[in-house]
This record gives sequence, structure tokens and C-alpha cells, in this order.
Amino acid sequence: MRSSSDVSGTMPVAIVGAGVIGLSLAVQLQREGQRVTVIDAGEPGGGASYGNAGFISQGSIFPPASLSLLKKLPSMLLDPDSPLVIRPSYLTHLLPWGLRLLLALRTPRLRRIIEALAAMNRQAIPTYRNLLSAAQAEDLFVQKGSLLVCRYGATLSEKTALIPTYRENGIAVEKIDRDTLLGLEPSLSADLAGGLYFPTNAHCVDPGELCLRFARSIVSHGGQILRAEVARIFHEGDAWRIMTPSGDLFASRIVVAAGHRSGSLLTTLGLKVPLASERGYHLMLPTPGLKLTRPVVMAEPFFAATPMQHGMRLAGTVEFANADAPPDFRRSTNLYKLALPYLPGLKNDDEATWMGIRPSLPDALPAIGRSFTHPDLYYSFGHQHVGLTQAAASAQLLTDVILNRPSFMDAAPFGLERFG
Ligand SMILES: Cc1cc2nc3c(=O)[nH]c(=O)nc-3n(C[C@H](O)[C@H](O)[C@H](O)COP(=O)(O)OP(=O)(O)OC[C@H]3O[C@@H](n4cnc5c(N)ncnc54)[C@H](O)[C@@H]3O)c2cc1C
Repeated sequence: MRSSSDVSGTMPVAIVGAGVIGLSLAVQLQREGQRVTVIDAGEPGGGASYGNAGFISQGSIFPPASLSLLKKLPSMLLDPDSPLVIRPSYLTHLLPWGLRLLLALRTPRLRRIIEALAAMNRQAIPTYRNLLSAAQAEDLFVQKGSLLVCRYGATLSEKTALIPTYRENGIAVEKIDRDTLLGLEPSLSADLAGGLYFPTNAHCVDPGELCLRFARSIVSHGGQILRAEVARIFHEGDAWRIMTPSGDLFASRIVVAAGHRSGSLLTTLGLKVPLASERGYHLMLPTPGLKLTRPVVMAEPFFAATPMQHGMRLAGTVEFANADAPPDFRRSTNLYKLALPYLPGLKNDDEATWMGIRPSLPDALPAIGRSFTHPDLYYSFGHQHVGLTQAAASAQLLTDVILNRPSFMDAAPFGLERFG
């Protein structure tokens, strides 16, 4: 990576953030003949994009929060093993965000959110194909479907009731019984009630490596990756001034794709960005002692086990907390205990922990578009639980917006205007 002091002149397009969202956009813009510079305070793919569950989950069309989940909130908050915790110090930040979330869960709005998430998720795999081929990263993707498995009949009934909505929104899904589950994944417990099978889902066997391949591809096609912390951006004359500790940079067009930190760059420009830091954990098991062929989401504790090139990754759960609060790695190591009823032969030798921060907006839709406050300012962030899934489709959508041509899917649901 180069330093910002190596750069002079005005860059045509600068992207702040080298997570999977910013990097996918850079690869896509380059495919369309644009010159790009990606600026990141750290290594490419060192944020949330590094340690996610690797799941390309077209079926994630429901916001992670639901009215039934909110009813369980009081008991969940008292349970140390709960898939959801809220640190008391974060409550004041979270309350206004939670009120917006409640509004988003009202029926007509919820239906539009589901439709918008499904429209984007249906494009996940077709749009990735182009990026993977540009970055020679096809070997990192496997398309063998995924499973949502339920331990209890009541959960299975709750999940089965969603099948018509999945199908109305173009997501292929089948209910399967215990024997079929075991036929697909013999390592699963024989005590499970059953599950849902999503035959067209895929997974990435190394999300960190995917980001590095995108970064290498950007550089090998003439783009730049700069290491710099962006303190502030503002419009000056007919360019953007990008302030970094090692000097100011200039760009004709700028994209903010800085994950959970996007808000600090945009709110000074008059945009409303109600982002929450929704932290999640993973536990990497290099020698898990069993094999899976596809991601398995365990419905009750709600996290995934994904087979990766360096072992099995257990990843998920939610911890609302300040982004810079110390991680609670018991939430990582606990994933092993919570997975055992589903994967009884699982081993945790040489386990490794990790915490990452999802950039989450209250209505579960990402923010992708052109600013209505300033010229040549664009944004793509807020992909919460599905940023890996939606990166390539988001890149295609924002490329259409930047190049000022009709977009390949409706961009309207994703504009920041929705927050006023
Ligand atoms: C435990 C867990 C499991 C997950 N599992 C999945 C999954 O299976 N499937 C899925 O689709 N999604 C999953 N996700 C969500 C997914 O990882 C995120 O939505 C996605 O990585 C967000 O990408 P991003 O590029 O927006 O953010 P990031 O990857 O966080 O990248 C943002 C980048 O911006 C940089 N940056 C920020 N501010 C500045 C600044 N001021 N100056 C310079 N650089 C800056 C950061 O250094 C960082 O590199 C999971 C997330 C977690 C935490």
C-alpha cells in the first residue's frame, strides 16, 4: 500500500474504505474504465469484512430484528449466552435508533424493506461472477446451498411459516426433515427437528483473502490503494479535499464506504446517518474434527458454522456496544458450547477469537447512492449482517449511479433521504 504523501494532483474517484464494499466498488468501476484510488487507515479487508461468516445469503430478506424477537428481549438481556446483548453504556445511543427500527417493522414499510433486500440479494451471485473473474478469485467461492437447522419443532414451525414470503420474493427454499438434513450434512446431530434448505446460496471460503485479491487486482489494473486515516472531507472549488494526517488529497468524486465509521465523515456534510455499531464475534476452529459442505445456520442461537479453507468458522451473534469498547471474547469462545447440540463431534483445539463491527442502519437496508447535499459525493455502507452477500450488487448499483446511467435495479429504497 502507498502512503498519501506519494499522491499529487486530483484523483478522478477516491473511495474511503477498503472493506469488501469499497473494494468491490473499485473493482467494478475499473471494469468500466474508471481510475480509482481506495484509501484506508489499515490493511485492505481488515475490518468487518475480514472475519465474517463467509455466507452469501440470498435468503437474508428479513430484517434481523422482528416483533417476535423484541418480545423475547427482556429475557434475552438477562441470559449471558444470549445471541443478543446490549451494553448499558450504549443504551442512550441505541434508543433513538431503536425507535426508528420499530417504525421500520410496521407492515407496509416492512414489506417494502423485504422486497428491497430480496431484489438486492437475488443479484448477489450474478454480480459477484464478474468481480471474481476480474480478481481471479473464483476459487474462493463455493455454491452448494445452505441450511437453516432447528433444534425445536416450535422454531421449525416459525421458520416454515416464512416460506411463502421467501418464494414470493424469488428466493428458492425447501423445508426438509431430519433424514434429509443428515443426508446433506452427516455431521449434524440426529436430534434436530428439521430445517430449511436454500439450494442457490453460496459461501466464500476466506473473506479476508477475497479482499486481498480485490486489492491486488485494483493495483494490477492501475488503481491505487493508500494507507491513510481520513479525518474529514469537504468540498472546495470543484474538488473534494480529503484531510489525512500525512497531508491533504484531492478528488473529483468521492465515495464514503467506511463501514461503521461512515457516519463521522458524512454528518459534518449535513447528512443524517443513524448508524449503530452492531458487534459480532467469530471462533475459528482449524481442526474441527468434522466436515460440513455448506454453511449451516443454527436457528435457536442464530449463528452460522461455515466450512472455510483454514478450518470451520462459527460466527454471528449481536452485541450493541461502543465501537471502541474492549471486546468480550467470552462471546467468541461460547459459540463452541452453543454449537455442540447441533454438531456433537465438533472440536475446539487451537481455537482463535475475533470481533468485528457491523455497520447497521435501523431499517436493515444499506445506504447506497448520491448525496443530495453536495455534488459528486457518493456513499455505500450500512450493510449490517449481509455486507459480503450484497457487496457486488451494491458495487454494480453505485457504479450505475456514479456513471449517471439507468441503474440495473431500483436505487430508490437505498437513498439516505429516507432518514430526513
Ligand atoms: C460476526 C460477523 C459475521 C458476519 N457474517 C456475514 C456473512 O456470513 N455474510 C454476509 O454477507 N455478511 C456478514 N457479516 C457482515 C459483513 O461482514 C459486513 O456487512 C461487511 O463486512 C461490511 O463491509 P464494509 O466494507 O462496509 O465495512 P468494513 O469491512 O468494516 O470496512 C470499512 C473500512 O473502512 C476503513 N475506514 C473507516 N473509517 C475510515 C477513515 N476515516 N479513514 C480511512 N479508512 C477508514 C476501515 O479501516 C475498514 O477497513 C458479518 C459480520 C460480522 C461482524
